[in-house]
Amino acid sequence: MMMLTKKMIEIRSILQGVGQSEALTLPSIVVIGSQSSGKSSVLEAIVGHEFLPKGSNMVTRRPIELTLVNSPDAKAEYGEFPALGLGKITDFSQIQKTLTDLNLAVPVEKCVTDDPIQLWIYSPNVPDLSLIDLPGYIQVVGEDQPAELKQKILDLCDRYIQPPNVILAISAADVDLANSTALRASRRVDPRGERTIGVITKMDLVDPRRGAEILADKRYPLRLGYVGVVCKIPQSASGLFARSRGNLTNIITKNENAYFSSHPLEYGPESDLAVGTSTLRKKLMHVLEQRMASSLAGTRDAIIQELEEATYEFKVQYNERPLSAESYLAENLDSFKHSFKEFSEAFGRPQVREMLKETLEQRVMDLLAKRYWNQPIADLTSVPYEAYALADLPKADPNSLYWQRKLDASTSELTKLGIGRLATTVVANELQSQIDRLIASSTFSSHPYAHSAIREAAANILNERFYSTSDQVENCIKPYKFEIEVEDNEWIKGRESVAKVMKKELRACEGAQKQLEGGVGKRKLNDVTTFVDRVRRGEIVLEGDGASGAGGFSSALLQQGREAVFLRDRAETLKMRLLAVRSRQCASPTNKYYCPEVFLDVVADKLTSTAVLFLNVELLSEFYYNFPRELDVRLGRHLSEAEVERFAREDPKVRKHLDVIRRKEMLEMVLQKIESLRQLEGRAKASVAAE
Ligand code: GDP
Repeated sequence: MMMLTKKMIEIRSILQGVGQSEALTLPSIVVIGSQSSGKSSVLEAIVGHEFLPKGSNMVTRRPIELTLVNSPDAKAEYGEFPALGLGKITDFSQIQKTLTDLNLAVPVEKCVTDDPIQLWIYSPNVPDLSLIDLPGYIQVVGEDQPAELKQKILDLCDRYIQPPNVILAISAADVDLANSTALRASRRVDPRGERTIGVITKMDLVDPRRGAEILADKRYPLRLGYVGVVCKIPQSASGLFARSRGNLTNIITKNENAYFSSHPLEYGPESDLAVGTSTLRKKLMHVLEQRMASSLAGTRDAIIQELEEATYEFKVQYNERPLSAESYLAENLDSFKHSFKEFSEAFGRPQVREMLKETLEQRVMDLLAKRYWNQPIADLTSVPYEAYALADLPKADPNSLYWQRKLDASTSELTKLGIGRLATTVVANELQSQIDRLIASSTFSSHPYAHSAIREAAANILNERFYSTSDQVENCIKPYKFEIEVEDNEWIKGRESVAKVMKKELRACEGAQKQLEGGVGKRKLNDVTTFVDRVRRGEIVLEGDGASGAGGFSSALLQQGREAVFLRDRAETLKMRLLAVRSRQCASPTNKYYCPEVFLDVVADKLTSTAVLFLNVELLSEFYYNFPRELDVRLGRHLSEAEVERFAREDPKVRKHLDVIRRKEMLEMVLQKIESLRQLEGRAKASVAAE
């Protein structure tokens, strides 16, 4: 029959894992007693180690739920605080220190708290027991203690000494039992003395005859009886045992036995009195086992009820949809990979081409502005207005070395701007931001862990491919750095293309002008631009650089005026050059010096086509092939069970769903365990009856 407590302790820890309700509380032995009644000494004698907080001013502030697990095979004795995750602690003075710290962490003004400390002790020398150590009752509140401490301790203890718990009421032999706070508290909740065990400590401090009288007391009858003990640690052993690995139980029992057997008349077998720590241990085991047995039916009913509730919730809220952390992850990963596939089908060579061409077109516009349409407006004072005259390209002499060099230099600047790097960066950035977009619209957006795992997967592949892709592209465009042949059809295409780009640029310019006008006001802007123009023509000479304003205009307004002049001139240049591009003069590549816009666009197009070819092979295809595989590695095979679980639980809805399922499964398992325990019990009873 002795396995029942062990099994029930196991069941209790499972129930704690699913959030156990009041109705499912399995019986424990609750230890109460006044301060200094010897409560700690009794508990330590049972455990075999000093481990409880000591010290003159040490009031226990939190209940300690002490679970003793008899582990015959355990090599060492050790304790564990499951809530703290500190692992196995084999040094009991470390356990003592941890308990002291946990106690001191409770603020003084709170006095005591309900929140129990869980401590498990595994040892071949302890019985299977579930004990709860409560703060000792205090008689007089100390000066440095809050006045309500006494009452709070009483209240806390009262909550714990309710059924189905067994009460271990500790009283010292040298104090009149009529004054025992523990016995008084027990009588309040257990008036017939059915679930209270009386422990009389410090038997060595009273005359043996008086001691025997106390144990045989009839004034406070307890069905489970009294046990007298001497739990004092012999002076010679104290301290030494706190540090050594020796077992306290043996020392105390030896000392105790010596004491009781030296008074055979009073405490000998004939006396029929229960004395000694080992007797107490046996009694505790027996009583708890019985309580566990009698709570089996009730616990079973409570579990059935909880299970019904969980089943109902599962049905109503989740339509009995099965879910596990793994299946959740797999499902999400699949749908993410699916949306990635869709993206990859929509983003191929044509799209990369378009992106790249646009980037280079912008570079061409910048180049043209810098080398042909140059309208420096940097310094209001020093540049004469004539220098701003628009480049009079249509009149450019094709045989002039000046215009030839200008175009050569511009072309060379374009081909040498680091196309490999630029193109690879543009595409890689686009891929990365598309991945971000895919994450944002997937369930992974609410999973920080998965979110960064996916981003990293993408970044890793892109980084890995970056240099080789960039080098390959650069290599392949190399010939264009030396010579560029332009076919007629290429020229026609380039002419159309660049006209479009310039029109777009023109619209952007006009848009910016409008915005400036809206901000400053049409008239005011007019005034300031007129002023800026006059300065540029040299009609007005500014003193200083105009940084603190001039002509009645603030420096900010002057700045806006300059911007307006710039935009106006740029728009005019663009209009003029658009006309030129469309004119007959720009109809064929033979006139390329007249039409650098068209020529540079053709160059940009050639560079784009070549770059795209290699980007497609080196970056895009590689990425599309490797990314889903990398995802599998990072979010599939590489994750431990705990990580998958943590991932799924990041989503509150999923967490609730998983919890219900887990709770249901746990309760089903516990119910099964309890049913088989009940069968065992039934059989045991039947065999006792048959004997
Ligand atoms: P608690 O405050 O109820 O936990 O009491 P302790 O276990 O700390 O004991 C209070 C004091 O009584 C300590 O000095 C113990 O050494 C002493 N003590 C405990 N049990 C016995 C005993 O059986 N005999 C004697 N003589 N002293 C004891």
